[in-house]
Amino acid sequence: MNKCIFLDRDGVLNRERGDYTFQLQDFEVLPGVSECLASFKKHGFLLIVVTNQAGISKGLYSTQMMNACHLKLQKEVNYAIDDIFYCRWHPSVSKSLSRKPQTLMFEKACALYNIDCHQSWMIGDRPGDIEAGISMALRTILIDPEKKMNDTPAHYIATDLHEANRIIISGQD
Ligand SMILES: [Mg+2]
Repeated sequence: MNKCIFLDRDGVLNRERGDYTFQLQDFEVLPGVSECLASFKKHGFLLIVVTNQAGISKGLYSTQMMNACHLKLQKEVNYAIDDIFYCRWHPSVSKSLSRKPQTLMFEKACALYNIDCHQSWMIGDRPGDIEAGISMALRTILIDPEKKMNDTPAHYIATDLHEANRIIISGQD
């Protein structure tokens, strides 16, 4: 079986703008993300992004615009990401089992990539990311740059992906 790092997108890989990010010029990959992802790959992890994209069902942007952002992301990280799962649904439109904190995106990924959750991790910056990760029996890291979310069930808290990388890799050897 494979081990995997599930990654939320905004606030983990690219800058969280406090709003939907769908314009290429707004999609800013955070410093050092490429190096962190390369390090995870070197240690044998699959890298899978799981992202809520309810702006699509709200009609704010198209899947094509989202895909253009994801191509920009992949180019900037040397195509290190193995797959990207997204959920287009907003709760006002559809009660999707995919939208985090629900877990269907993770379950599909596990089935497609033969993932062992007990060797795998979820890294995200919102409570819903952590809740989904815990539901899947993943170890979880909350990205909290200002360390202000004290009341989190996450296994670890990190300021950025660099610190998350250190936490995970230090336990691998
Ligand atoms: Mg996020």
